[in-house]
Amino acid sequence: MKSQKQTEKNTLTGIAVSPGIAIGRVFVWDSEEYTISKQIIPQKQIAIEIARFEEALIRTRTEILDIQKKISKEMGIEHAEIFDAHLLVLEDRMLIEEVINEIKREKVNVEHAFIVILKKYSDIFSKMDDEYLRERLIDIQDVGKRIIRNLLGKQREGLMELDEKVIVVATNLSPSDTALMHKEKVIAFATDMGGRTSHTAILARSLEIPAVVGLKNLMQTVKNGDIIIIDGTSGIVIINPNSAVIRKYQRERKKFLDFEKGLSKLKRLPAVTKDGKSVVVCANIEFPEELSSVIDHGAQGIGLYRTEYMYLNREDLPNEEDHFQAYKKVADCMKDGHVVIRTMDLGGDKFVSHLDIPTEMNPLMGRRAIRFCLAQPEIFKTQLRGILRASVYGNLKIMYPMISGLTELRQANEILDEVKQELKRKHIPFNPDIEVGIMIEVPSAAVIADILAKEVSFFSIGTNDLIQYALAVDRINEKIAYLYQPSHPAVLRLIKSIIEVGHAAGLWVGMCGEMAAEPVFTLLLLGMGLDEFSASAVAVPEIKKVIRSVDFSKAKEIADKALKLHSSEAILKYAKENLKELVLDYKNKD
Ligand code: PEP
Ligand code: MG
Repeated sequence: MKSQKQTEKNTLTGIAVSPGIAIGRVFVWDSEEYTISKQIIPQKQIAIEIARFEEALIRTRTEILDIQKKISKEMGIEHAEIFDAHLLVLEDRMLIEEVINEIKREKVNVEHAFIVILKKYSDIFSKMDDEYLRERLIDIQDVGKRIIRNLLGKQREGLMELDEKVIVVATNLSPSDTALMHKEKVIAFATDMGGRTSHTAILARSLEIPAVVGLKNLMQTVKNGDIIIIDGTSGIVIINPNSAVIRKYQRERKKFLDFEKGLSKLKRLPAVTKDGKSVVVCANIEFPEELSSVIDHGAQGIGLYRTEYMYLNREDLPNEEDHFQAYKKVADCMKDGHVVIRTMDLGGDKFVSHLDIPTEMNPLMGRRAIRFCLAQPEIFKTQLRGILRASVYGNLKIMYPMISGLTELRQANEILDEVKQELKRKHIPFNPDIEVGIMIEVPSAAVIADILAKEVSFFSIGTNDLIQYALAVDRINEKIAYLYQPSHPAVLRLIKSIIEVGHAAGLWVGMCGEMAAEPVFTLLLLGMGLDEFSASAVAVPEIKKVIRSVDFSKAKEIADKALKLHSSEAILKYAKENLKELVLDYKNKD
């Protein structure tokens, strides 16, 4: 992780979040915050404004029909049907008449008139009791944005609609924007905002797209069509490089791909230390589509399935069958290993605008994850039914996110029991002994791990959140990224204690936060007794390599010594020295 500084005029350094090198053309992904000013127009311009409005409606309709065609071809007709609702908004005579009347009555420019009416509609729809009508708000807002863009003559190509390979540059990207990226079209991305454990960064690793975030002023520096190099391993971004630099990075790219190929030899080998201690190395996934990469990289199971992605980029809620089919697919594919299905963790940086997740001052500490599920038990039950039904097809486990105390855990388990009873009554098969575990990612859960341990089968340490809450450092904020320190002595003590308490209660303890994916910490975590490492599939071979290079007894010694050091810097330095000394391939690395 590196801080941002300008080393040369055309070189920026940000936070390296997804390894690999890409060289290509910039595609600026614009933020959609247009400023619209109110202009009073003369009488004779009214007809012109109305004509502009009609033109924008026609252009928007053509755009939507084009997208529909494209999506129908690439993803199937059912995905394309989502846009029918958008077309209906465009044909809504009442909305159109109201905009025209506003222009005539107030003698204002069409952009302003449209914004006024759009706001009126949004206010009415957001207060509707009928859920279906409330959900139409998202269609109105989406189409509204398109119309405004067309009125202003702006272009915003969708990330799904790209025709050529590009490198996306943006101020920020949401996890849902990132989920829409096609690997064949988006060869890398770079953003001004963001941190290493933001979900956008995590997704880049899952999609194997090189990425650098936290660049602070890249957007000011580039324009569409510039040539750019993204080094997602070192965090360097070079704008309009000369041919010598391009050649250098082409060589680096080849070296990176060769290194990756070398690691792939490890994929069938077990994660066992030189003195015979076995641990498990699993993969984290967001979508069942990642399964082939999981198998290719030799993961022994799924340690974290982030199921909330099923709720993103769609306009309705996934139903029981959607859940069942997705989990069955993963269970069928991972016959030899377990699959830890984390119940949805919406909120934080993963929003679904049609669900009742209000805008909060501190969304990362708001009504997210299990808190949301307990407040909306019907939505939670739908997911639990899907998981339970799929549990007969493989070794599925349930994991609750963001547990902060015993009451929450008990409430979640009560709901799970209700769902089990219901399935039993209906004679629907499921595994009655399905293991239930929790993420330990809130400091309070770490402190009372002994109490929670009595009522669960396993712990999985979510360092991404645990670090942000323990150190009070927002994981997405690039301005304080330097304080986001997995090697902080407080973090190591928390991890050590969670593992010890879990083991004392007879539980296995895994880690599915990004710290488990960083080779520099592998020896420490191994030495502290971690049973399972779960990381993005790409990280799996390297973690195995480190584990296979050492004796467990030596790793224990290293962990004990690291726990006695007093600062993040000292611990990090010590961890790096040991990695270099003990693991071939790291000797000459930074
Ligand atoms: C974590 O917090 O470490 C974790 C794995 O969950 P997420 O990154 O999805 O919050
Ligand atoms: Mg988390």
